[in-house]
Amino acid sequence: MSFRLHNTLGGAKETVFAADGRTLRFYCCGPTVYGPAHIGNFRTFAVQDVFRRVAEAHGLATCHVRNLTDVDDKTIRQSQAEGTTLAAFCAHWTERFHRDCAALNLLPPHHEPSAVANIPEQIFLIDRLLERGHAYRAEDGSVYFNVASFPAYGRLSGLDRRELRPGAVARETADEYATREQAADFVLWKAHKPADGPNAWASPWGRGRPGWHIECSAMAMRYLGESFDLHSGGVDLIFPHHENEIAQSEAATGQPFVRHWLHVAHLLVDGGKMSKSLGNLYTLDDIVARGHTPAELRLALLSGHYRQPLNFTWNSLHAARAALTRIARLLVSAPSDAKSAADFGPFSEVFAALSDDLNTPHALGVLFGTLESFERGRRPFAADEAANLRALLGVWGIPPPSLEAAPVIVPPEIRALAEARQSARARRDWAEADALRAQLTAAGWALRESADGYDMRPVSGESP
Ligand SMILES: [Zn+2]
Repeated sequence: MSFRLHNTLGGAKETVFAADGRTLRFYCCGPTVYGPAHIGNFRTFAVQDVFRRVAEAHGLATCHVRNLTDVDDKTIRQSQAEGTTLAAFCAHWTERFHRDCAALNLLPPHHEPSAVANIPEQIFLIDRLLERGHAYRAEDGSVYFNVASFPAYGRLSGLDRRELRPGAVARETADEYATREQAADFVLWKAHKPADGPNAWASPWGRGRPGWHIECSAMAMRYLGESFDLHSGGVDLIFPHHENEIAQSEAATGQPFVRHWLHVAHLLVDGGKMSKSLGNLYTLDDIVARGHTPAELRLALLSGHYRQPLNFTWNSLHAARAALTRIARLLVSAPSDAKSAADFGPFSEVFAALSDDLNTPHALGVLFGTLESFERGRRPFAADEAANLRALLGVWGIPPPSLEAAPVIVPPEIRALAEARQSARARRDWAEADALRAQLTAAGWALRESADGYDMRPVSGESP
């Protein structure tokens, strides 16, 4: 059985392999560390984690690089607003990111370079582009990539070069640099502006900071070489970020940059877009505050195919909890003396689904069909099957669940509503007590009251 995966570049399903015959070398665009990552970010990181685990289960050694973006407009502005240094600000959010990744059982990458720690590599790459005539200096000291000098531009995104117009240029390339020659040209080095404060580095073109795109090319090449196996990120990065990475890397080296591109579709919440203004940009802490576990979130994030948008609902977490409980029940029913299995036994079809373009929804369907045949006693569930199941959970990155009930963590504002209701009841203000219960229900919490007090649990199927 081979591991096959859709390649955004070319659009075909291709076998995953290490070009050097030894180590599968891949790069994942990491977080901008200016706040907590949200569950949409973690969908992408969870899919990349399963990708790596499936590759390793196929016997491939891996070298996984994921960067930290620790210098850009957002990190600089936010650190200034908080009156702290860029380094201290980013260190704080990096630590939070690591904590969330560990809770979600994401394997740490083998290398986690940061943009600030790789300024010389980025300067070197920009210098090569200037030397080869693919970049130019603007009057203010900024350096731009000349898109017209790279005929293959647009190959990854299927973008027609004639469509390159100012409106198509996104993120920081759209900064108010009027000096670039073409609207599609993107910045490689940004000249220092007073608003950047002390966040500037010396370069042959004067003080400034690298653009966002060049950082990924420089760090990927530092750890993986000028040509490597696979590059991954969310679909929103295909254009312009990954298109720009390809252009500047291949223009600088004359080598193909990456063979295989893996992109993960968006996460929706309750059928719609996630956004700060809608208040549905959930973090792991928000999920845990509603009484759910990171393992439940991980399973919910993997319940859809990675190339399709996935709709997150609170119900999907309840479904994940029910699924993990079934697995836990089955695991406790088997003796625990088997060694880990080399093949997955009755679960091998599940592994085959994962190996076919990471088809996690099909794999889950087969998994629970197999579990049912054990639950109904149609197959014997013995120690070696328990080992098979544990090994398979390892490929999903789901720690073997236990039957101990997950602790319910009640957010303080919910606790305050419940307390207010208890006082309303004590003073026999039934109207107020009813109104408070209605508020709790609307927030997705059920209250069970008795003579000795009350306890609370999140309500199945409720949206916030
Ligand atoms: Zn990137």
